Amino acid sequence: MTNRAFKTGESREQPSLFPPWIEDYVGPDNPVRAIESFVCALDLAKLGVRHADRGMEVGQPPYDPADLLKLYLYGYINQIRSSRRLEREASRNLELIWLLKNLKPGYRTIANFRKENWEALKAVNRSFVLLVRELGLVGGAVVAIDGAFFHGDASKASIFTRKRLAEQIANLDREIEAYGRSLEDNDTAEAKHRTDGPGNAGGGDGDDLGARVSALMAKRSRAQADLDRLKASGETQLSRTDPDARLLSKGDQTVAGYNVQAVVDDKHKLIVASEVVNDSSDVGQLHAMAKAATDALEAEALQVLADVGYYSSVELKACEDDGIVAYVPLPEGTGRLEKQGRFSRKDFSYDAIADAYHCPGGALLRPMKGRWQNTSGRFEIRYVSRKSICGTCQLRARCLTPKAPYRTIGRWEHEDVLERHRARMQSAGELMRRRSAIVEHPFGTIKCRAGYRHFLVRGFNKVRGEWSLMALCYNFTRVLNILGFDRFVAYMVAKTRASRKDVLALVLQCIQLVLRSFWSNQPARARPNRLNRLSCPASSGKSV
Ligand code: SF4
Repeated sequence: MTNRAFKTGESREQPSLFPPWIEDYVGPDNPVRAIESFVCALDLAKLGVRHADRGMEVGQPPYDPADLLKLYLYGYINQIRSSRRLEREASRNLELIWLLKNLKPGYRTIANFRKENWEALKAVNRSFVLLVRELGLVGGAVVAIDGAFFHGDASKASIFTRKRLAEQIANLDREIEAYGRSLEDNDTAEAKHRTDGPGNAGGGDGDDLGARVSALMAKRSRAQADLDRLKASGETQLSRTDPDARLLSKGDQTVAGYNVQAVVDDKHKLIVASEVVNDSSDVGQLHAMAKAATDALEAEALQVLADVGYYSSVELKACEDDGIVAYVPLPEGTGRLEKQGRFSRKDFSYDAIADAYHCPGGALLRPMKGRWQNTSGRFEIRYVSRKSICGTCQLRARCLTPKAPYRTIGRWEHEDVLERHRARMQSAGELMRRRSAIVEHPFGTIKCRAGYRHFLVRGFNKVRGEWSLMALCYNFTRVLNILGFDRFVAYMVAKTRASRKDVLALVLQCIQLVLRSFWSNQPARARPNRLNRLSCPASSGKSV
């Protein structure tokens, strides 16, 4: 039994509540030290961070961009994203006080750093992918691609389609017409009032109505200008708040925002490449994302897994051309012909040697001369059966429409790419089962654990910068968990030392060059013997 009912804190009157050294504010294995070691190892000027290469200048020095990057990394790892919250935390959070050495940047400085360095943030994210490659944390053989919708900093109501604008204009026209009629009635009533004398008032709200009509006319002009702008740009949507946010729909989900594409390596589920687009559909993203991952991993024959939403013959061909082995399930289609008991294209088999299709009736469909461009822009060769054979065929009712004299099959000029892909997909069951487990892990973690479902900034550039921070923090946390704090920090410290040695060596080389140039202009007897022995790195090792 103690003499206190509850635990009690220390007295506020005591002189030292916190440890006297800032260094004592965080423990030796606090993750904040990992952030410090990572940022210290970066060459921020090379990564394009603004003012990173600033020298001594007159006036108040600005905040070091390295400190602001540390602040953002800490914030995004700990679900603190807004510049005002980061400003508050920098004053009261002991970990941040340690990380920033008691610096307290204002929210404008913090916000401007994220706004102005969107490209550098992408570069920092890429440099972390290089780091995980150096650490051997990526397999570089199998990756999965997927996309997820994130809300933008715009409401659904702020995004207009052509149809919506046309409807708005029609509604405004109706309202203006109704008010116009009211104005006419008012004028008639006022005219009658003047004729009959002051005893019979006509309502007297003509000025109000006029103002309302003017407001509606102004609104209509704005809507018309928006519609004209939309038509001129060839776009389908227009956002008055965030110019790049779009209404994105998938199934019964509609989001005003962006579609984030990510490529995830299967070894430790780390994001190796990513991009932010504003298209609902994932079609058209396969090759670009697979290529970005190939470049990031420097892979020779990367296996790429994607869901059926990425299926595109053109994209599959582009992947094959770049040596990327893509696995994408084939769309099932509506099966309309099968349901009607009729032959679909699947019932016709291609014979590469004969360059002909075998039909279910045993006849051959031969190629016609020339190429045709179909509605999707692909060039195809048409294979046709013989009219005389089809005319007497027993299966004719299942194969042709009543008026068609023969059967035609279009074959894409690069159909062999699709045939190889179809053959590959026959034995890809296990790989495809792994796909969702690989790629849905990062999105699940970012959206559900961190709670990042929306962007705080507007426009592609800034949104891409913010996504880079999210992806970097996901990878950073994961690497710390996989590798452990000690190994990560030891690696980063060694890397920093190595780069400092390189810088030192470079400085020494420069000094040698300057000295060489100086002494070469002096008479030989004036040169000190010691300097005569200096070797120049740029002079193939000859002494001067
Ligand atoms: S109708 Fe013509 S193409 Fe169709 S199965 Fe009969 S022979 Fe073959």
